Amino acid sequence: MALTGLEIYKQLPKKNCGECGVPTCLAFAMALASGKAALDACPYVTEAARENLDSAAAPPIKAIKFGKDSVLGDETVLFRHDKTFYHPTTLLIQVSDTLNDDQLNAKIQEIKGLEFERVGLQYSLDGVAIVQESGDAARFAKVAATVAEATDKSLLLLSSDVGALKAALAPLAARKTLIGAATSENYEAMVNLAKENSVPVILKADGLDALEELVVKAQALGYKEFVLDPGARTPVQTLANLTHLRRLAIKKKFRPFGYPVIAYTSNSEPMEEIMEASVYVAKYASAVVLKTSKKAHVLPLMTLRQNIYTDPQKPIQVEPKLHSVGNVNENSPFYITTNFSLTYYSVEGEVETSKIPSYILPIDTDGTSVLTAYAAGKFEPEKIVEAMVACGIADKVKHRNVIIPGYVAVISGKLSELSGWKAVVGPRESSGIVSFSKSLT
Ligand code: SF4
Repeated sequence: MALTGLEIYKQLPKKNCGECGVPTCLAFAMALASGKAALDACPYVTEAARENLDSAAAPPIKAIKFGKDSVLGDETVLFRHDKTFYHPTTLLIQVSDTLNDDQLNAKIQEIKGLEFERVGLQYSLDGVAIVQESGDAARFAKVAATVAEATDKSLLLLSSDVGALKAALAPLAARKTLIGAATSENYEAMVNLAKENSVPVILKADGLDALEELVVKAQALGYKEFVLDPGARTPVQTLANLTHLRRLAIKKKFRPFGYPVIAYTSNSEPMEEIMEASVYVAKYASAVVLKTSKKAHVLPLMTLRQNIYTDPQKPIQVEPKLHSVGNVNENSPFYITTNFSLTYYSVEGEVETSKIPSYILPIDTDGTSVLTAYAAGKFEPEKIVEAMVACGIADKVKHRNVIIPGYVAVISGKLSELSGWKAVVGPRESSGIVSFSKSLT
């Protein structure tokens, strides 16, 4: 259990020197207890005290790194609106070692094709989970090596056979491959294998009581690079486990559960599988292993993940510069919108559909939508004129028409007056752009 502020205070030097950034040791103790300070900020803590206080200073869920750039855990809140979520759920596609070479290559190609661009951001699938189902250690190692050679994705090796895992891991340990799963039967050999190779390992037990017992025994081996698997494979029980684990880690600072958690989908029908995975991405899996690798299935899941892991205080924005859609010329229409990416890309998509090459200038409104920006005084005629001058639109088109969103028709008079351009009131919603654009021709 986490230490209270007073318990921490008893172990501090009590010099009240202020070098830690707060005036007194008591204030520092309180900041430590609430996770707002790091123990390293005090240069006078004794080694003995440091050891005792480590658990109080540690984050509620340990960050576990594996593979290319996967970071699991290190979350501090239960709900995104409390602060933010930091590390998007790592998505892995399961590859069985029972696939023949042709099937394996086809699967790898499909996985490599999981690259998407959405609202100006690039994202791709994170990793591959190679599962030993063949019972053949040599085949498992061969499949792992083939996947590793074909892709730079993060790797997870899953086998209950420690010998097979050891052989497959040997050439891949440098890639910080995640291995699993250690159970109450094989945890010593499995954790020692992970420790020798400096890779993280999954601890799997059926139910939270058994999992706690396993974590405590595994920690006693002097290693703490763990990912937890509470065992259940039904969506309802998995969701319950994920929620209990996150609550206990964050709210109670229950150290045995202060590790990231992995979940596996159980549905074999792809759309149901994606719905199941969506639940785990929302609450609270650090990694999810999927069976489907079809683009049409994975894209909605990645979109959901992107939305959940976007900092609610920092909306995704596009660069507030002049954008051109199609082969623009001096007669091209000129649209104004805001730099909130969902707004901008909705406008851009409709302009593209209209098939009339056009200019679009997103005004820097700190990533807010049109009405929000207007209400906050961030979409004012003065600011728009300034942006029009800065982007040099007057040198690119010979007409003097600027199309503004219908929602801010009220600014058209002042904008015309200040800019010397005719402010043309466009549709309220971007969905009206295609029919509106026909009136321009
Ligand atoms: S630096 Fe250490 S000794 Fe000084 S006030 Fe902070 S906690 Fe106390």
